[in-house]
Parts: sequence; C-alpha cells; structure tokens
Amino acid sequence: MTATPPSDPVPLPATPVCRPATVAVHAGRPGHVTGRPANPPVLFSSTYRAADGASGPGDRVYGRWDNETWEAFESALGALEGGAALVFASGMAAIAAALDEVPPGGVVVVPRHAYSGTLGLVTDRVAAGLLTARHVDIADTAEVTAAAQDADLVWVESPTNPMLEVADLPAVIAAAHAAGARVAVDNTFATPLLLRPLEHGADLVVHSVTKYLAGHSDVVLGACVTAGPDAGEPARQLFGRLLRRRTMHGAIPGPMEVWLALRGLRTLHLRVERAGANAAELARRLSGHPAVLQVRHPSLPTDPGHERAARQLGGFGAIVSVEVAGGATGAERVASATRLWLHATSLGGVESSLERRRRHAAEAPTVPENLLRLSVGVEDVEDLWADLDQALRTTLEP
Ligand code: PLP
Repeated sequence: MTATPPSDPVPLPATPVCRPATVAVHAGRPGHVTGRPANPPVLFSSTYRAADGASGPGDRVYGRWDNETWEAFESALGALEGGAALVFASGMAAIAAALDEVPPGGVVVVPRHAYSGTLGLVTDRVAAGLLTARHVDIADTAEVTAAAQDADLVWVESPTNPMLEVADLPAVIAAAHAAGARVAVDNTFATPLLLRPLEHGADLVVHSVTKYLAGHSDVVLGACVTAGPDAGEPARQLFGRLLRRRTMHGAIPGPMEVWLALRGLRTLHLRVERAGANAAELARRLSGHPAVLQVRHPSLPTDPGHERAARQLGGFGAIVSVEVAGGATGAERVASATRLWLHATSLGGVESSLERRRRHAAEAPTVPENLLRLSVGVEDVEDLWADLDQALRTTLEP
C-alpha cells in the first residue's frame, strides 16, 4: 500500500429538498438514467485497479478508505439528518470516534442514564486517566449547564436509554456552546424522523444504525453525522477527523451490512409511525394494568418528559419502560413468559422485544431492578397486548 489514506477535509454531500418520507425512499439511489439500476450495488472489493502514475483525488484505491455502497447509505442518512454522514462498523465504533474528540485530560458531561456501552467507554477512559467525566440528569438543564462549564463535550441522549428522560435540547446546546463545549447527540432512539439535532445546533450526531435505521435486527452498524458543507470550516474539519479515525482505526462496515441497512431505511417512516402508535397505545393500557407499578413513555400526559417531548419531538418513540410487580424475579418471569415478544437485548426491529435491563451488570444501578424495556414493533397492537397481558399476569400468581 503506497498511497496515504484520506486526511484532509473532504467535500460534503448536499442536504435534501424533499420531505423526510420521500428522502427515506429516494436518497442514495443511482439516479434516473436509462439502463442504470434502481438500487446501488453491493460493492465487494478490497482494492481497485491503480492509476498509472500517481492516483488522483477522486480515484478509488483501497477498500478501507471508501466504498460505493457506504456512500449510498451515507447520502441517504446525511439527507435525513440534514448533514454529512459517515457509516461505521457499529454504534460503539461511531461513539468511540466521537469521544476521541475530547483531548487528553479533557472533560465530558454524560447523562447518568444512557446506553451502558457509552457510559462504559467513558468509564474506561476515565480509568486510563484520559478524561474526566461529569454525570448529570440530562433532563435537568440547570445541572447540565453547571456541569458544562470548562467541559469539552456534552453528550446527550434524548429520550435516554432505558429511563426515557427527555432533555431540553435547544437549552442544553445553547448552554454548552456558551461554555465553549461541543455537543454530541446519540439520536438512536428518536431517529431523524422525530428529531434532527443538527438543526438545533448540535455539533455531532451518532447512531446505532443496528436499531431503527436498519430496523430488522439483522445487522450491527453505526454512523456519525456532522453539519453539512454550508456550516463552515469547523464542521468540515470535524467530518475530516472522523473520517480519518474510521480509516485509521479500521472501524469500517461490510458492504452487505450497509446495503441491508439502506434497504431497511426505505421504510423507516412507516416503521417509526406504526411502532410509535403501538407504543403509545400499549403505554396507555399498561398504565392501568394490575401487575404494572410504573410506566415510562413520553406520550403519557403524566410522564415527566411529556410536554418537552411534545414540543421538541415529531413523535414519542417506540420504547416503553415499565416497572412490574414482584421485583427482579417478577420482571424475569414476564420476560420468559411472552410467546410473541422476543426476550432479547437490542431494540428498534420490526418485531417487538423486551428485556430486564439490570440483568446486565453494566447497567446503571439507579435503573430499577424490576424495569423491563419494551421495544415495540410494528405488529398488530391487539396481539402485542394479549401476549404482554398474559405474561404480566404471571407475576400476580403465587
Ligand atoms: N446507542 C444506543 C442508544 C444504544 O441503545 C446502543 C446499543 O444498544 C448503542 C448506542 C450501541 O450501538 P451498537 O450496538 O450498534 O454498537
């Protein structure tokens, strides 16, 4: 290998003009030219025929540097988020690349409840003496504002995994920027159909594409998205640094996975809408169930995040967290008694699944032991309810 990997800021893709549902269906296709395919190809090649002499700027050289299938997905996700996307091998690979923005000795503000892998990676870096972490209630804007002073990065999940706290995103971004900190938003739960953090001024968005974007529980994939070309030099440079990290760390996805994710993305709007409607209906019914002690879902008027979510989000999402009777044992009983709901980790697939989050030692100790995180899918809500109801009733049996 003689050529050097890309290190300079690269041209960013353009932003969309169509509405999100149309963008999801059309972005990243080859274009309406006679004889061209409707879909981008799955491009399997680790190397390319070299230019005779020095290779030029647009030349494809090596499979770790770029790939046509990645670019199709990136142009679709970039259009949906209103920025420039880079696909990574997993959500964690994207998160690691984003956390690398914090310089050695720097300070990162993180939600006390967030994806346990994100918090674990921060903890590892703190233990290695690389950074200082300040854990906050991301829904408490005053606490976030205080913690952002002298910080390098404020990390946001909204709604949080699995407690579904909702941040006041515009206020948090304004406070962070006033303090000189940058803001990264993990937009996995909301998806760009419910929330476009870059429009609120976030510097960076990350995704576990594994979840809603791909949507079929068949790939592990991630992405980073920065502001687009019109946002100026800092955004271009951030994009360039993230691209260089992906290349140099080899945090690259397989083309087949990316192609599957792009196919999944074509129905994102339909899935998010249906799953969200199912989730709201189930949250309402669960609130009156004798085996349920507490329901968390921003659609519920009683939920602490309801008003904020109604103002900021284009919907309430399809994750519902419930605390059930019988403690950890009761929750485990429910999870093993469902026949339709899949007892499994992860979320965002077309199929409904559930899990007691504290079964993982890495989950935050402030997440209740009896909390089940439900990932509501796109099935018929009556079937989902019937199965959940019978499983919940097992906790009421002696
Ligand atoms: N962010 C959130 C909110 C998640 O729930 C997850 C995984 O569950 C991740 C990031 C990590 O993504 P991945 O598993 O694709 O690496």
